[in-house]
Amino acid sequence: MLRNKSALVTGSTGGIGLGIARALAAQGANIVLNGFGDPHEIEALRVGIAGEFGVDVIFSDADMAAPQQIRALFELSVARMGRIDILVNNAGIQHTAPAEQFPDERWDAIMAINLSSNFHAIKAALPHMRAQGAGRIVNIASVHGLVASTNKSAYVAAKHGVIGLSKAIALETAGAGITCNAVCPGWVLTPLVQKQIDALASRESIGPEQAQQMLLSQKQPSGEFATPAQLGALVVFLCSDAAGQISGAAMTMDGGWTAQ
Ligand code: NAD
Repeated sequence: MLRNKSALVTGSTGGIGLGIARALAAQGANIVLNGFGDPHEIEALRVGIAGEFGVDVIFSDADMAAPQQIRALFELSVARMGRIDILVNNAGIQHTAPAEQFPDERWDAIMAINLSSNFHAIKAALPHMRAQGAGRIVNIASVHGLVASTNKSAYVAAKHGVIGLSKAIALETAGAGITCNAVCPGWVLTPLVQKQIDALASRESIGPEQAQQMLLSQKQPSGEFATPAQLGALVVFLCSDAAGQISGAAMTMDGGWTAQ
């Protein structure tokens, strides 16, 4: 379905971003991987995806906190792939603390990586997508773009911003063959969430499995995690012709979290 198309997925060396990159590659898209991690493991991922799905895969460690590096990443992607049809803004970080104890530096980092990076990448992508007369932009927001939780002021503010940005870009690109949507996962078991499970386990003096169940039961009625592969499938759908009239949407995958 996506053969001869190219996708840039930020923050795709692990977690949800890797699930999305694999799902797009499985449909034939060439992939630009981005993120941090052990260089040998990342090279193995790059070669593995290319071999498994018969697509071109390149990697860049551009820092999504740095606008100049985001612009350079987009230029590199177009130069190496010839075109970028799909932009998935996925890179994100978390920090939890009450607002009055929230470190200024963590607030700034969350705003830069979780929100401003989406703007800078979209700004770089739009001239290219407009010239092609086609493009798909998917921003990985969160249920925390729709509702709040305690101790996550920066994350909640940034993710609400991502949904607002997605709507604004959807309006500006309407009728130009470009769509822009937000995806709002609930709990997904990735390193980002594992840290919160570990903190809960130590706070409550319980084991890791009990902490997982406690975390889910507090918010996610299904009692199950969503998976990176399920999120990848939703992104593939948003990149399909069938989704051509879906733009400006905030699509949840949260086991009923925001239905409450
Ligand atoms: P993760 O920590 O498992 O992976 C994050 C990825 O982003 C990694 O590849 C990491 O190297 C990369 N990254 C981090 N900082 C970066 C930077 N400055 N520049 C470039 N890359 C960077 O996280 P995840 O759980 O897979 O989260 C992915 C996205 O999904 C985030 O935007 C997160 O807010 C969102 N999300 C996650 C959950 C969840 O339950 N895991 C729920 C809702 C939304």
